[in-house]
Amino acid sequence: MTLRFGVIGTGAIGKTHIDRITNRLSGGEIVAVTDINQNSAKSAVEEYGIQAKVYPDDKSLIADENVDAVIIASWGPAHAESVLAAIEAGKYVFCEKPLATTAEKSLEIVEAEMKFGKPLVQVGFMRRYDQGYKQMKNAIVNNEIGEPLMIHAVHRNQSTSENYTTDMAVVDTLIHEIDVLHWLINDDYKSIQAIFPKRTTKALDHLQDPQLFIIETQRGIVITVEVFTNCQFGYDIQCEVIGEIGTIKLPEVPTPVVRKNAAISQPILQDWKDRFIVAYDLEIQHFIDSIRKKGYPEGPTSWDGYIAAVTSDAGVRAQKTGQKELIELKARPEFYKSKNSPIQNLMS
Ligand code: NAP
Repeated sequence: MTLRFGVIGTGAIGKTHIDRITNRLSGGEIVAVTDINQNSAKSAVEEYGIQAKVYPDDKSLIADENVDAVIIASWGPAHAESVLAAIEAGKYVFCEKPLATTAEKSLEIVEAEMKFGKPLVQVGFMRRYDQGYKQMKNAIVNNEIGEPLMIHAVHRNQSTSENYTTDMAVVDTLIHEIDVLHWLINDDYKSIQAIFPKRTTKALDHLQDPQLFIIETQRGIVITVEVFTNCQFGYDIQCEVIGEIGTIKLPEVPTPVVRKNAAISQPILQDWKDRFIVAYDLEIQHFIDSIRKKGYPEGPTSWDGYIAAVTSDAGVRAQKTGQKELIELKARPEFYKSKNSPIQNLMS
């Protein structure tokens, strides 16, 4: 069976998902789209030459009986209501991060999914599908560097738009590290602290940039993450885990080496779409394949979305207080322990 998708939000990432499902992946088809900006939805249909119905809003799209699964790629604060409506209608959901903008709303989604009785939701934490992170995860699971002690990570973007605010450094940007590092070391977080270094003059006045976060885990691993969203030079993601007998570092994406004018140089990627293009393809293909084969999505769960939301809530508090803020999670329900997914298996 072909999985028939409705897409809610046809902005930057919504369009890339329409493109990959239509032109590169197998087993999926876009049959419906909606966007608060109806012209954007119509232009997506034209741009990709798809036979998809344009709906005025998320509720009418979800109600279409031809829609098996929804992709939620609207802006973050609108995600939770669309996810809850889709669960109520029994539709599969691929939700871009964040699952919800607060821990309370994420928990509401978790509870709705458990009440429905089977997993329906996958959250778009695509870094877990990146080859480099997967190699690091395997090395850690196989004890190649011994017990992890520290992690140093860096998340740099070239520049941000005018509506990017200081808290978005956590809820929009750091959230990727929050998820992937938790998955990488399989250890719950204990606390988070935010430090504001000297501000760059290259960011808009309302924005604190860069920011440094220090996260401690339950086993005592200390993580530092630099978030610098107006670094000017490119999209730069780095991660190094320091273990008892060795270290392991995220590989750089290979780019051509140029020898010219008495110098050796290598371009730095400029765009997140290029950096994780393969991971985006793999996460959506996994969503399609696991639903077709097993009847539920196997990727990052609503519970992972909840962990990220609790952590980012604490991160925003830490930005305001300047103190170490505790990260307190509820116990993981049995429902989210029992899935037989290769990704979940890596966790144990
Ligand atoms: P974007 O270009 O602004 O696109 C969002 C689109 O959704 C816009 O067309 C917006 O319309 C529309 N929209 C807003 N509220 C809506 C609603 N209630 N119903 C339907 N459409 C609505 O943003 P984007 O960069 O694509 O980001 C979309 C989501 O994906 C965000 O949550 C973001 O965090 C996430 N994202 C994830 C990654 C990743 O690496 N996984 C990368 C990029 C983005 P208007 O423009 O008229 O408001």
